[in-house]
Amino acid sequence: MKENLPTQKINSSLATLNFDNAFVRELPADPESSNSLRQVHRACYSRVLPAQVSAPKLVAYASEVAELLDLEAAACESDAFAQIFVGNQLLPNMDPYACCYGGHQFGNWAGQLGDGRAINLGEIVNLQGERWALQLKGAGLTPYSRRGDGLAVLRSSVREFLCSEAMFHLGVPTTRALSLVLTGEQVTRDMFYDGHPKEEPGAVVCRVAPSFTRFGSFQIFSSRNEIDPLRQLLDYTIRTDFPHLGEPSVAVYLQWFEEICRSTAEMIVHWMRVGFVHGVMNTDNMSILGLTIDYGPYGWLEDYNPDWTPNTTDAAGGRYRFGNQPQIALWNLAQLANAIYPLIEQAEPLEAALQLYGDSYKQGWQEMMAQKLGLKEFVPATDLPLTADLEKVLQLVETDMTIFYRKLAELDPIDEQDDDSLLAPLLDAYYHPEKLSKVNKHQISDWLRTYLHRVSQDGLSTNERRQGMNAVNPKYVLRNYLAQLAIDKAEAGDHSLVNDLLQVLRQPYAEQPESVSFAEKRPEWARNRAGCSMLSCSS
Ligand code: AMP
Ligand code: MG
Repeated sequence: MKENLPTQKINSSLATLNFDNAFVRELPADPESSNSLRQVHRACYSRVLPAQVSAPKLVAYASEVAELLDLEAAACESDAFAQIFVGNQLLPNMDPYACCYGGHQFGNWAGQLGDGRAINLGEIVNLQGERWALQLKGAGLTPYSRRGDGLAVLRSSVREFLCSEAMFHLGVPTTRALSLVLTGEQVTRDMFYDGHPKEEPGAVVCRVAPSFTRFGSFQIFSSRNEIDPLRQLLDYTIRTDFPHLGEPSVAVYLQWFEEICRSTAEMIVHWMRVGFVHGVMNTDNMSILGLTIDYGPYGWLEDYNPDWTPNTTDAAGGRYRFGNQPQIALWNLAQLANAIYPLIEQAEPLEAALQLYGDSYKQGWQEMMAQKLGLKEFVPATDLPLTADLEKVLQLVETDMTIFYRKLAELDPIDEQDDDSLLAPLLDAYYHPEKLSKVNKHQISDWLRTYLHRVSQDGLSTNERRQGMNAVNPKYVLRNYLAQLAIDKAEAGDHSLVNDLLQVLRQPYAEQPESVSFAEKRPEWARNRAGCSMLSCSS
């Protein structure tokens, strides 16, 4: 049995973390508490203890997340912090557990999945009265570990830690990351499943979110026809995470589902805005709070290619490619609708809610595109063709999406210019500006003229337009190769780039002239390097 830390030995703000473990208190538990692999029926979770590791070492922590938990810097920098957030020691009132859930993987029902390497420590209520669940990723075996070892490596943990925080600062709904701690143990991974296993440093990320409940948390019960726990989980979720909906009833279940349709649409609009590709949108990786969750083989669009997926497992089918994300979210929502159908028994209102997803997505996308282009509002008559043509222009030649929109803000709607001078401020967005043909230049310039004409009709001052655009088009995103450089250094024992990136990504819309190298387009060496353009689920 693990020892609880004597409270007097640890920093006061760690000792006063106010745990209130409603999830385990109110929901049905698996009666068994070993971590042996098993099918768990009629239960939302299994109690489980994190594994002991030899030499925990803090790599980085996010001070903003610490603040959410009312933790001071001194607490985060203490030895006890690394011990606790690697899973070596428990605080009084932590009650660790792994959740049971199922899911559709790549469109096929996969049965029971569950937290195979995530261990929840419990929920705290902070001084503002907010509830935050704390979860260690990579802290050892659980009943749901299937063929895995319950562990995570530094490579994938750096990616999860940095991307969670980058997304938050970009204004994209996401789970958060408090800390990244090395375990001191080596973990064997065959990164591309090609018979070349390698030892990698093990690490644990502490994720933080109001709730980690997924679409698959409901699916598992309905797939087994376990209607009582299905209702218990839904009622609990409504009371805890959606209290504004009122007491659970069939009508409230429908409102709940409608709200998820809306928040999921909003999340996907944000992904499309910043060029984020999740990579594994299985239903077990879909949060009921519309948060981006489970950062695995995700990637950021460099050259604008709606068919791109970073996930090598998905390379052939491209199910989770950038341009397919809105459709997949709808498919996933339909699976959630099926899962709660036994509590509602009416198809029509569920179908209407799914329709609402489509409507919210369409409206959200149009508003987002208007903002990206610096327009007061999206006027379908002019802006549907404008955005459709932009989609083509961005794919004529390799064009960096992030740089393109930043540079677009710099253009002035001035008098007639020839193609070359019109294009000059945008050249940096092109991977091979020297290869732009005359025809390409003309096609792009044509679009720019139409765009600048639309802008001049719109009546915003150039300054207002520029400010508006630069507030939604980031200068800094977690470029795939930057994450890889941070990983390379961290694996060699130098954590500085992880921390430097965290710092720059705190203000992704600010110019930060001292950090411009982080805004540069992907260098040639990274074009085909593993980890930069191709990722696997191995993590
Ligand atoms: P993911 O694709 O990361 O969402 O994972 C799908 C399922 O596999 C989830 O149930 C995970 O908990 C489980 N899983 C992934 N990696 C491991 C691992 N190293 N050990 C145990 N379970 C894992
Ligand atoms: Mg997952």
